[in-house]
Amino acid sequence: MKKRIIYILICCLLGLPTWGQQSNKTVQKAAQKRAFTVVIDAGHGGHDPGAMGKLTQEKKLNLEVSQRLEQQIKLHYPDVKVVMTRKNDVFLTLQQRADIVNKNNADLFICIHTNAAENRNVTGTETFVLGVDKLQSNLDVAMRENAVMLLEDDYQTTYEGFDPNSVDSYIMFELMQDQYIDQSLNFATLVQQQFTDIGRSNRGVRQAGFWVLHKSACPSVLIEMGFISNSNEEKYLASDKGKEDITNSIFQAFSQYKSAYDRKHGIVIAAKSEGKPSAAKADKPVKAKADKPVAAEADKPSAAKSDKPVAAKADKPVAAVEQAELRPVYKVQIFSTLKPVPAGDATFRGLKNCQYSKDGKYYKYTYGEDTDYQTILDIQQELKTKFKDCFIVAFLGDKQIPVKEALQMK
Ligand SMILES: [Zn+2]
Repeated sequence: MKKRIIYILICCLLGLPTWGQQSNKTVQKAAQKRAFTVVIDAGHGGHDPGAMGKLTQEKKLNLEVSQRLEQQIKLHYPDVKVVMTRKNDVFLTLQQRADIVNKNNADLFICIHTNAAENRNVTGTETFVLGVDKLQSNLDVAMRENAVMLLEDDYQTTYEGFDPNSVDSYIMFELMQDQYIDQSLNFATLVQQQFTDIGRSNRGVRQAGFWVLHKSACPSVLIEMGFISNSNEEKYLASDKGKEDITNSIFQAFSQYKSAYDRKHGIVIAAKSEGKPSAAKADKPVKAKADKPVAAEADKPSAAKSDKPVAAKADKPVAAVEQAELRPVYKVQIFSTLKPVPAGDATFRGLKNCQYSKDGKYYKYTYGEDTDYQTILDIQQELKTKFKDCFIVAFLGDKQIPVKEALQMK
């Protein structure tokens, strides 16, 4: 331990500017690479209107809410890059949407859609993540949203033989592993929770095979804001208040997700970024009249069996989030000393949010925080240029546990 302190002291005495700058650049580059980008996708557009209502069309509602969400995020998170797949009434293929996500190295992909069902009593919100579910109603939604492929001349080539109308095509989603599933479920759960908080009927977090989610390499969700096929809900969705409520709900979920992301990545957040003004708005009692029939109708036995709210499904991701809280967290221990190092010390240059804990006589300094071991491994690799002996440590709650044990818990 003394060796390390002497090493740091020698470095400080010698100045070692080149060494310091280089490692700084590396760490900054790593931070830049992790700069948060969200892609908002207003479903449908142009000659694809999506689901049709009596008052309006899905493509219009999707775009209006997407634009409001874009404004909210830009206002409260000036550092976040917000990319829109479309800003006006144009047609985009599913593949083009996914390409935008991947070209921008997005950290989060939010698709905004409006639901429709043959049974006009059905109402409520649901948020999908990629996956397989035996529920016919989930497959129906995926089929309807994927069907836009059929508007393309050569869709079979573009979509690798995938037929949006064939149940067999959806088997592929059973075989694949989605490495972003945990984050996608977390965000989806936050969205549904926000909808519940404003009194919307919660049809839960669901899984289905959406091509646009499948082809996007980041945590991705598809939000169905409500049913355009129900006249009360259509009125609500088309109203200014409805659009504002929905936007606020998604924004609050974004805010919570982003805070968790920042904590994990050791990013210091400006107070403004907490999104307080909108929180106040979203917390207002918004028991709109449109919400009452929503709850009532969702419980009606007349609702088709396939459209029943899936309580079990809705509970699963919530449990997943709770489990996530108990999951081991990894950090990189960069060094430990007998005397605390002042926060502004050159040692921490380029590292935005180092933490320390006192263990016996020693102050242990760590950087980064993530439940994903691979992410911390990457951070450790970057840090090695500056702290060549840094190593990974694991915590369960406040308790440090052996990394090996943490890895076995997964
Ligand atoms: Zn749609």
